[in-house]
Amino acid sequence: MERQVIDEIQQLKKEKNAVILAHYYTWPEVQAIADFSGDSLGLSRKAGETDADIIVFAGVEFMAETASIISPEKKVLIPEGNLGCSLADCITAEKLRNWKSQYPEAVVVSYVNSTAEVKAESDYCCTSGNAVNVLKAIPEDKQILFCPDANLGAWAAKEAGREVILWKGGCHVHVAMNLSMLKKAAATYPDHEILMHPEASCSAEIPEELKEKTYIYSTAGMIKHVAVSAKKKFLIATEPGILYELQQQNPEKEFVAIDSFLVCGSMKTITPEKILAALKYETRVVKVNDELAAKARKPIERMISINR
Ligand code: SF4
Repeated sequence: MERQVIDEIQQLKKEKNAVILAHYYTWPEVQAIADFSGDSLGLSRKAGETDADIIVFAGVEFMAETASIISPEKKVLIPEGNLGCSLADCITAEKLRNWKSQYPEAVVVSYVNSTAEVKAESDYCCTSGNAVNVLKAIPEDKQILFCPDANLGAWAAKEAGREVILWKGGCHVHVAMNLSMLKKAAATYPDHEILMHPEASCSAEIPEELKEKTYIYSTAGMIKHVAVSAKKKFLIATEPGILYELQQQNPEKEFVAIDSFLVCGSMKTITPEKILAALKYETRVVKVNDELAAKARKPIERMISINR
């Protein structure tokens, strides 16, 4: 990365009172210039806490939308247009309304990886880090619809001891992480502890022989686990961008991705140069209109109140 780009970004950040938030799945050079790197919940929280006037959100569109919902008074910029998410795109508000009409008594839990319109139709939001607690907090006599990620929903339901009706959606990166990939990687790296994201398609069906050394975590959970684990080697089953933060925090430990080619194309289109352009020209503003934001904020606030 050119020094000049970094210097210009730093200068503009000061002049405009701006902050850069980057998701763990972006390139290392993007995370390196960010004021804060995190998962979608961590970044949303930061967006709510910051006193900056401008937030440059190095992540996909729904994440920038969440920042706008939480901080409606801030200007939220995204460095690239049309940064879609295969998971969030699995369900629209209209499809969700149709689904709900078949289960009029059910409550809807939506993974935070969903559009503002879908959140606005939901009763609760959840993240991969708190999905189990959110399900446990719902009264036992309530039927639960869970969308859009079927793998996260199946895993969280099993952990929470609840029955849920799943929307059959998934993220293309994590859906590819199946049982045969896990077994092959575990055989190649027999000394590694396995950290797997619940969006992975085999998260709810870990084979008996691997259960003892496999942990299912959100990306933030993986970071916490590694910090306290006595183990030195880890096999990571999520988007490999997370390896940058893991390595930064634990230079003495070894990390290997379950498949280093399984990347999120949208996240990887973000570059420092595009962040610079976003800051300079204040282009691609993501703004959720007030009425929609008010509706979408409710399930997010319910989630946060469960996980205080
Ligand atoms: S990794 Fe998957 S869920 Fe995350 S932003 Fe990319 S497509 Fe969406």
